[in-house]
Amino acid sequence: MTADRTIADTESLLADYCGYDCRLRVRGLVATIIIALVGMPSGIVLDYFVYPEMVWKFLGLRLAVDAILLGIAGVLLFASRRGLLTLVRILGVFTALVINFSFCLMIFLTDGAVSPYYAAVNLIITGMAVLLPWTVMETTLICTASLLFYAVACVANPNFSGLSSHSLFAFNTFFIVITTVVCVGITFFLSRSRFEEFRLRHQLDEKNRELLDLDRAKTRFFSNISHELRTPLTLILGPVETLLNRGEQLDARVHEGLILVHRNALRLLKLINDLLDLMRLEQGAEVLRKRQLSLGSFLRGIVDSVKHLGLSKQLKIRVENGDENDEVLADPARLEKVVLNLLTNAIKYTPVSGSITVRWRCSPEEGVIEVSDTGVGIPASDLTQIFDRFHQVKSNPANQVQGVGIGLALARDLVTEHGGRIDVESVVGKGSTFRVVLPRDRESTAEAAVPQEEQGSEEPFEKAFRSADRTWRNTGEDSGEVLPVVGESGEVVLVADDESDMLQYVVSLLSPDHRVVQTRNGANVPALVERHHPRVVLLDWMMPGRDGLSICKDLRAMPALADLKIMLLTARIDEKSKLDALAAGADDFLTKPFSSAEVRTRVSNLLRSARLQKEASSAEFV
Ligand code: ADP
Repeated sequence: MTADRTIADTESLLADYCGYDCRLRVRGLVATIIIALVGMPSGIVLDYFVYPEMVWKFLGLRLAVDAILLGIAGVLLFASRRGLLTLVRILGVFTALVINFSFCLMIFLTDGAVSPYYAAVNLIITGMAVLLPWTVMETTLICTASLLFYAVACVANPNFSGLSSHSLFAFNTFFIVITTVVCVGITFFLSRSRFEEFRLRHQLDEKNRELLDLDRAKTRFFSNISHELRTPLTLILGPVETLLNRGEQLDARVHEGLILVHRNALRLLKLINDLLDLMRLEQGAEVLRKRQLSLGSFLRGIVDSVKHLGLSKQLKIRVENGDENDEVLADPARLEKVVLNLLTNAIKYTPVSGSITVRWRCSPEEGVIEVSDTGVGIPASDLTQIFDRFHQVKSNPANQVQGVGIGLALARDLVTEHGGRIDVESVVGKGSTFRVVLPRDRESTAEAAVPQEEQGSEEPFEKAFRSADRTWRNTGEDSGEVLPVVGESGEVVLVADDESDMLQYVVSLLSPDHRVVQTRNGANVPALVERHHPRVVLLDWMMPGRDGLSICKDLRAMPALADLKIMLLTARIDEKSKLDALAAGADDFLTKPFSSAEVRTRVSNLLRSARLQKEASSAEFV
């Protein structure tokens, strides 16, 4: 199998090299013919000074050579169009021989060995060996034939007698032989390095092609799998929504659990939708369905639909008044995605009591939409990369645990698809303004516009997708709020997780059997431990501000807390992370996703071992 592959690879390499060699030869031969076409008649000046009596005869000869060269050029054109490598090779050899033959004829017709035209023979051999990708065989053949022509021209010349003529002949022949040897050497090394260079380039091209194929396969796989994930997710959302609609008839805990399922299924759906959109844009499959949009009502509609997301942070989200007649030609669904991404980001990255303002304006050429916030801002060093895929601002603590950095990349791709652009201005600590600029050239975009009534082809799951776009994961930014202790009886367990949904989930699992103290801020853990004396502490590893590992180390450094059991929660599954957790003094390690039974059992085990440890130490004491 491997041997077959190697043979096939070699065959394909050689076939490609033949094509490359043919192209090189054609190029070199064309250059040679052009130089010769000009050079041959210009030599008449030399003839005029050296052999004035031969001027007309030699002019005829020179023009005859040019005519032959033109003929060669014609055949070359034909051969190169058909890729006839052998014919191109023959033409190369023939050209060299014709030119050298004509000079040897001039040598014969003038002074034989004494003729200065000998220099032309040498020059032509060397020049053509450099210009044309000859093989060693071709060079040897041309040089030998030229040498033969020269010898015959000298010996057959009527003046070939006398010492000076003989010694000059020997001298010139010697130099033609030396030139031949040098040219054969040059050809040998040049042809080898040419092939080697081609082989490497060929290999590189093959690898690039393989990479491209792999990339396409990956994109295809990714978009197929994303597509497959959307359907079951949407089918989870439907029944959950139906159940949630029965609100009052449901048990409070079931209701709470369903809300959690609903919110997180929407989150997952949004992520999948965004990824799918990116893939589609990458494959160039995205077709915009543009229509005239009135910016005022369009933006107010979007802002109204996300206002609730800012309630927990008491954000003021408003649309500034603008000209109600302003319209742009755009795909409403796609532009909505762009504005929603900017708005949800603004909500995410604006601290409590901040404000977010959306405004628009139009000039005859452009429609501009701006989303400004009084949020954390973006460092200048990140501004150039902010629209790159998977780029997240490192210095933003919220990014350590949330988002994947595709929202803005998708927004930029969608805006570019509209022929517009998106940019940002930001000052750290003061806020950011994202600006979407869309062209308003109605004439050029008019044919892309889709009449409004044609737009009703909503997918069956459109409603779920639209709500997914409006989800935002509350990361439980520390707003100073003190979370209540949940559960009436049992041992005290402390849970620290910055992600509200996860915290709520773990607390709901443990609260039936334990008294659960909860916090979203890792920095509160030592104080809460001191106040509530928990038996077990569950720490999320990745928390903005203080991470679980460092808190674990701090707790372990307190001798009074020697009995305290610590469990780290994390999505990291590598061996090193587990070892790091154990080395930091953690008693247990739970990887996400975990089952409810697993959390309960592990916490019970830790409590039991804490109890046994305590009993053993008090027995020892007695
Ligand atoms: P994600 O929010 O999922 O991480 P995005 O592509 O939407 O990805 O944003 C990329 C990064 O840009 C974010 O991680 C965040 O650091 C930064 N960013 C985006 N919008 C804002 C904003 N309004 N204020 C501050 N930072 C922002």
